[in-house]
Amino acid sequence: MAEAPKDVLMRADHVKVYFKGKNRRADSVKAVDDVSFDIRRGETFGVVGESGCGKSTLGRALIRLLKPTEGHIYLDGADIAGLKGPELKKMRKKAQIIFQDPSASLNPRRTVRQILTEPFEIHQMAGKMDVEARILELLNLVGLDTYHLSRYPHELSGGQKQRIGIARALALEPDLIICDEAVSALDVSVQAQVLNLLQELKEKLHLTYFFISHNLNVVYQVSDRVGVMYLGKIVEIADYEKLYEKRYHPYTEALLSAIPQVGQEAGKERIRLRGEVPSPSNPPDGCHFHTRCPKACDRCSLEAPELREVEPGHLVACHLYDTRVRRSKI
Ligand code: SF4
Repeated sequence: MAEAPKDVLMRADHVKVYFKGKNRRADSVKAVDDVSFDIRRGETFGVVGESGCGKSTLGRALIRLLKPTEGHIYLDGADIAGLKGPELKKMRKKAQIIFQDPSASLNPRRTVRQILTEPFEIHQMAGKMDVEARILELLNLVGLDTYHLSRYPHELSGGQKQRIGIARALALEPDLIICDEAVSALDVSVQAQVLNLLQELKEKLHLTYFFISHNLNVVYQVSDRVGVMYLGKIVEIADYEKLYEKRYHPYTEALLSAIPQVGQEAGKERIRLRGEVPSPSNPPDGCHFHTRCPKACDRCSLEAPELREVEPGHLVACHLYDTRVRRSKI
């Protein structure tokens, strides 16, 4: 693959994450199945798709909480897919994660001070810097007070817990943060506050986000570009405005038709997909979406479509937009 341009912070190059089946005969689960894309410096790259489509697995592989089965992941030009030991630990300073459920991701036996001190202990930075001053700075950044330092997670509200999760992710001054359904477990009013906070922090600290959500509305609110995932594959990538105006992939069309619209789009009928999402341990041949696609043709069950640019910056994996063969085969 060609060297990534300077404005690319992370490049995923044919990344696969397969999990072994429960026994030797069981098929492996293809959670992420040959995915390639770039995350540009300073952008929010949103990823949307139904539960189980592989978006969280992809997010965890990007920061090496999971090891990819195949492929390369470049962070600042260096391939991190095969890193181990001290090199992997060093890489973690540059890329962090905010988890979905703040109650589950914070240790209930540790105070906020202990939780926020942990990253500096793990990276043996405690003796080299004023950790207390940095913790106070982090609390201030996420809108909490010093009295929260002595609290345990069960003494905090859901929004406060997620603010601690955000502060912990910021502790080592990363460049990239994976937001894995970071607001899904929160009440709607708190969701808006946390989304605003993430936006403010992004601008203030020049962060880059990989923002995972099953909720297209949330993804639209925060993203500069959006990737749509279906059964382990990215099927469409575009600027959020372009995707809203014109989507090409039949799955994106169906996803968008499911959210309430205003203006010109209001009154459009919801597209109901037939059947269930197939199992990632046995995805359909050809285009993974062909068993549910209202526009499928013979070629779709035989050949997997590649992600191709159909307009500048707008990529789609669908044979309908393969201009090389469209007239003769479809
Ligand atoms: Fe539908 Fe075929 Fe396009 Fe897949 S390749 S989305 S099955 S038309």
